Amino acid sequence: MIGGREIRELVGVLSGVESAVSFGMESCVSRSGKGGSIGSGLGESGESNSRELWAGHWGIAREMGKGKGASMATVSDVCRTLEELAPVGLAESWDNVGLLLGHRNWEVSTLMTCLTLTERVAAEAVERGVQMVITHHPILFRSAKRLTDETAEGRIIMKLMTSGIAVYSAHTAFDSATAGINQQLAEHFGLTEICALRGRQGDPSLGAGRMGRLQNPLGREEFLDRVATVTGADWVQWVAAGPEVIQRVAVGCGAAGDFLADAAVAGCDTFVTGEARFHTAIEAESRGMNLVLLGHYASERPAMVELAATLGVRLPDLRCVVSAQDRDPLQARLYAGRMPGR
Ligand SMILES: [Zn+2]
Repeated sequence: MIGGREIRELVGVLSGVESAVSFGMESCVSRSGKGGSIGSGLGESGESNSRELWAGHWGIAREMGKGKGASMATVSDVCRTLEELAPVGLAESWDNVGLLLGHRNWEVSTLMTCLTLTERVAAEAVERGVQMVITHHPILFRSAKRLTDETAEGRIIMKLMTSGIAVYSAHTAFDSATAGINQQLAEHFGLTEICALRGRQGDPSLGAGRMGRLQNPLGREEFLDRVATVTGADWVQWVAAGPEVIQRVAVGCGAAGDFLADAAVAGCDTFVTGEARFHTAIEAESRGMNLVLLGHYASERPAMVELAATLGVRLPDLRCVVSAQDRDPLQARLYAGRMPGR
């Protein structure tokens, strides 16, 4: 089994992977030569609202993948690889992970990773002719009783179904995996002696979040710069209530404010997550800890770029691309010093 570090070393020389990858630096290059705007396929001419046409659409979509030889990978092959990288048993009980849309025997020549499967990303998947989308955030996360064009999720799922595009999400299984998002963040922050923050009984190396030690302690601002640099974050928020010199750090990608207490109990002076509630910031103050919020998107998106590279190594017959339409809807603008008390 290839480890995350080896994959990062290999990725620069791989011809089967379309994205040059490192945390904080990425590029997406389409080999399809299709060009054109992602939105150009949108509109009524690209949609089918006729039930009779569904079977026809599926047939056409599946034939697009044929004729490339008997060795073409299937959705099942991709699922198997993803389950090796992020065993579904690691997912939280409330999560919705695994193959969420499509047939396991569909052929796949191109897959695309993304953080969130929005309408823009779904349109991009169709435009780029991919057969499978690996999204970190699951579709159908909340149970649905109807799928219509009245909701974004309904439109996304119908578009993908009529185009024969399968969808897989590993979500919290990938957060917690041996080479998953939190492990990657911990390594890129320069932590050593890394272990799970919420370790599993019997195997403390597995579990949610990560914590570790900076071999060479860093000043708070130096550490913030490192967090922003390795993730490519445009902005970072922080609560500077812990020691000025940072040594023991815990990490929880996404919205993991609940892990702050675990980090405190484990003796960490600093906790890094994507986003947290105001009261988590207050809690950090009262616990005398540094809290760093680098944004939900920045805390998880780089790992989806890396996942495309990893899949390109593990499934060399596939084109593995990263969504170019995946984006952080939040922007920041600073108006410092205007609020009394600041
Ligand atoms: Zn997330």
